[in-house]
Amino acid sequence: KPLITIKDIGRKYVIGTEVIHALKSVSLTINKGEFVALMGPSGSGKSTLMNILGCLDTPTKGQYVLNGIDVSHMTDNQLAEVRNEEIGFVFQTFNLLPRNTALDNVALPLIYSGTNKEDRKKRAEAALKNVGLANRMDHKPNELSGGQRQRVAVARALINDPSIILADEPTGNLDTKTSIEIMGLLEDIHAKGNTIILVTHEEDIAQHAHRIVRMRDGLVENDYMNPDVHTVK
Ligand code: ADP
Ligand code: ADP
Repeated sequence: KPLITIKDIGRKYVIGTEVIHALKSVSLTINKGEFVALMGPSGSGKSTLMNILGCLDTPTKGQYVLNGIDVSHMTDNQLAEVRNEEIGFVFQTFNLLPRNTALDNVALPLIYSGTNKEDRKKRAEAALKNVGLANRMDHKPNELSGGQRQRVAVARALINDPSIILADEPTGNLDTKTSIEIMGLLEDIHAKGNTIILVTHEEDIAQHAHRIVRMRDGLVENDYMNPDVHTVK
């Protein structure tokens, strides 16, 4: 059963008299448990598509159904609710709260979902253990390495048990060795049944995904299963 169905979506921006078709017509079906890399040159529409997939923005034409919910015409408040329930975000710049400990950063989404304090702590501790940070729970972001910060961000993305993880250049600020570690972590998370959509400019990073979608000029240029990953599995 598809988790994501987008049908002929478009997104245009109108600036004065200029109309920019950031997405012209994109159709995609993504099933539960897929690990998809979204690639393409700068300006091809990746960010616009990720914003729509992440319910930060809505298309100006077409339909987007996420986990059975038609989110195409939702208000900002409705989208915020869907985001909190369905989506875990991982960013290039980690986006952690600098004054809060790793534990508090991971527990934050649980405040919005109304979890009590004791359960928040328990779940955040378990999530940090799962990403290998059992001994870093009380550290603040500036007391952690880049790779550790991204692990905290991954734990936070997973805390509400989202239906999809959207990772936008998650290794963009990391060195090669740390990037490979973070991709290993995403592979483990994928192996547990999670659905991951990753944006990356780097071929090596995209090769960790099972499916590669390439965009150009607001269209999907290419969409194929990654043969390297499939021979291993
Ligand atoms: P990326 O690094 O994801 O390729 P871009 O360089 O395309 O991002 O754009 C950075 C941000 O600037 C976008 O997220 C978008 O909000 C904004 N932006 C891009 N192009 C325009 C434009 N022509 N007019 C106004 N804002 C733009
Ligand atoms: P990518 O992430 O692949 O670099 P984007 O989705 O950021 O591509 O941009 C696709 C096109 O839409 C580009 O031409 C960009 O300039 C334009 N664009 C993106 N965001 C905005 C915005 N907020 N306002 C106007 N134009 C935008």
